[in-house]
Amino acid sequence: MPSWIRFLAIAPLLGIGSYLWPILSESTPPRLQLSGLETEKLYRGSVTLNISVTDDRPGLGLLTIQIDDDPPIPLSLATDGGNYTYWTLDTTLLTDGAHTVSVTATDKSLRKNATQQAIAFYVDNTPPQLELLPESRQAWQGKTFGIFVQTDEAVSALIGKLFDREVTFYPMPSENLYRSLIGIGVKQPPKNYPLTLTATDRMGNTGKQTFTFEVKATVFERGGYITLSPEKQKLMMDKSKSREDNAKRGNAYAKANREADQLWEGTFIRPAEGRLTSPFGKYREYNTGVRRHHLGTDIANVVATPAYAGNHGIVTLADRLHIYGNAVVINHGQGVSTSYNHLSKIDVQVGDRVERGQRIGLMGATGQVTGSHLHWGMVVSGVAVAPEEWIERDFSMPTADQLSADIDVKSTATGE
Ligand SMILES: [Zn+2]
Repeated sequence: MPSWIRFLAIAPLLGIGSYLWPILSESTPPRLQLSGLETEKLYRGSVTLNISVTDDRPGLGLLTIQIDDDPPIPLSLATDGGNYTYWTLDTTLLTDGAHTVSVTATDKSLRKNATQQAIAFYVDNTPPQLELLPESRQAWQGKTFGIFVQTDEAVSALIGKLFDREVTFYPMPSENLYRSLIGIGVKQPPKNYPLTLTATDRMGNTGKQTFTFEVKATVFERGGYITLSPEKQKLMMDKSKSREDNAKRGNAYAKANREADQLWEGTFIRPAEGRLTSPFGKYREYNTGVRRHHLGTDIANVVATPAYAGNHGIVTLADRLHIYGNAVVINHGQGVSTSYNHLSKIDVQVGDRVERGQRIGLMGATGQVTGSHLHWGMVVSGVAVAPEEWIERDFSMPTADQLSADIDVKSTATGE
């Protein structure tokens, strides 16, 4: 055997071996630290992942990054000689949803000691998509308009614009379903209107969609001539008295607009026994020459007939008014109030929590009336609407069959 071959055979044991040995035997993998992208978090747009990698010996061999199942991409360390680098991830190139990024650092040893770190994260670059439920395409004069919106993801804000007013949506128990209840005025011109919805998701992606809905004409009963006594005629024409009443009532209704919780449950009950003498919206004439829609439903019975809360709520008015006599207003939340007027006695106080069916007072003939009756009112988003509808329909959830039946009750007018 030539001597040079013998030398090669023993070389690893001599000087060359002392150099190669650590590369062969080293078993400590590189240390890897990632920041800028966190597990389980949601991202949009560009995100910078900072990578710091150290390997004392024999040194870093290969550094790669891999997005999902894509081929790994080799990375090089910063050109300033530091043990770091960064990777800018353009999340717009990824689909919305779950993704994983993994970084692998391998050292130069023959064992190829490697460290891998993976981060599972979410991407959302798409604004919420909105769907207006079919029933929310039609509204009726003098009725409650339930606008139900289904979104394809959770939203942090949903704001509507309708009749040049901002409308508030509240989340429903059903996932990604939102509702706004709007009172349509008896005189709202019947035609198509735009409803603009702006939704923002948790990532701040904002989408705006405009829908069209139609206000349909309600056929209101006409007729009835109300003869008020000279004293009550004077009261009716005294604008300062009605202004005073309206300020107090407006203040009570405004409290319901600020109540984000739905206090009522299911359908409402009719608040008193008796004959329906004047339906909501009936166009009537007074001996004062005034002609106007009746903005409540009259239930006539003898004085001291009990009056009950239509549903759960908080009393926001319990006062003696000029036109409405002894009046109670109950806030049911989310802009919904009911009122009970011309009472002979009030059983509750402002701030009281009342239950559906709880007695709140006794029927009477106080204020501008021609006989004992309960003027039962309903106000939704500041607008008077037919209360009867709430007895038949549970506005808690959307329903396919929108109630459009007109209330047809023969009437004998009994004032407000
Ligand atoms: Zn009335």
